[in-house]
Amino acid sequence: MMVAAPLAGAIKQNVALDVSRLRKEKGISPKLVAFLIGKDPISRTYVDLKQKDCAEVGILSEVRDLSSEEYTASDVVNALKEANEDPKVHAIIPQIPFDGKIPEERIFSTLSPQKDVDGLTPFRLGKLIRSEYKLESSLLPCTPKGITLLCKYYGIPLEGAEAVIVGRGVLVGEPLRKLLQDLNATATCCHTKTRNLEGKLESADLIIAASGRPPELFGSKGFRLAGENVREGCAVVSVGVRKDPSTGKMLFDVDLSSLKGKCGFLTPNVGGVGAMTRACLLQNTIVAAEDIIRGS
Ligand code: NAP
Repeated sequence: MMVAAPLAGAIKQNVALDVSRLRKEKGISPKLVAFLIGKDPISRTYVDLKQKDCAEVGILSEVRDLSSEEYTASDVVNALKEANEDPKVHAIIPQIPFDGKIPEERIFSTLSPQKDVDGLTPFRLGKLIRSEYKLESSLLPCTPKGITLLCKYYGIPLEGAEAVIVGRGVLVGEPLRKLLQDLNATATCCHTKTRNLEGKLESADLIIAASGRPPELFGSKGFRLAGENVREGCAVVSVGVRKDPSTGKMLFDVDLSSLKGKCGFLTPNVGGVGAMTRACLLQNTIVAAEDIIRGS
């Protein structure tokens, strides 16, 4: 099982050392601000976890809760601009999804690319597409970065590998496709209109399941990866997850029990990609703070 703990723990330890160094040598306390904009109940959980992670490594953090009805799209934009300008804030993350309250493009065109620690502004995504980045020290989207680091850590052969990503979202699928491609995998994003998804899955060396559409909630339009869908020895990364609004149960893209024993590598549903995403957010906060100090 490709658990994240050893790598995520090492990243967090280094971040804690960086925080003390920046404080001692530069008198700077790195600070992350999370914007809670949508009402999805899972968003509150995610920002709470981010605050807890920050506290563990000594990063200052704050949540700006603009999720209530009383806040308009203009309020969100103004609050973002204020955080962009605030010299005490080094890193900003707007918690996705925004639930249609404000178009995503408006958020990401307002957010300063310098403080964009989830790498989702047009500037950061442009740098990624142009391969103008370093995996560990650039502001790359946290989940794709975390998955790529985890694959490298566990020595999954990527060069020449057929990597199939289920999902073409801007948060996970598309950036990950580019990162894997840059490591010389042949990476394909599949989606709801992909023909013969079954065949692509069966021949893949590496599968990243990132649809977030469990069959329990989406019926025949849903997606679940099970042992019968993959070839012996392939690697599987579990990303997609959605909370059942009526039961509160977490529903995952990956049916772990049927994949265990068939996969060469498999990430757990809990303690895998989520932990890497959180560690990469902390690492990116240091990257942003150091870039700001350097004036780059
Ligand atoms: P998204 O933008 O909604 O994208 C979902 C993608 O899945 C779409 O491209 C969609 O295809 C595709 N899809 C949906 N049902 C499918 C099916 N039956 N067969 C094939 N493809 C299908 O989602 P996202 O923002 O990229 O996030 C994806 C998932 O990752 C979510 O569950 C999210 O919660 C999870 N996530 C987890 C972490 C973590 O740390 N564990 C971090 C980030 C995200 P179309 O484009 O055709 O609609």
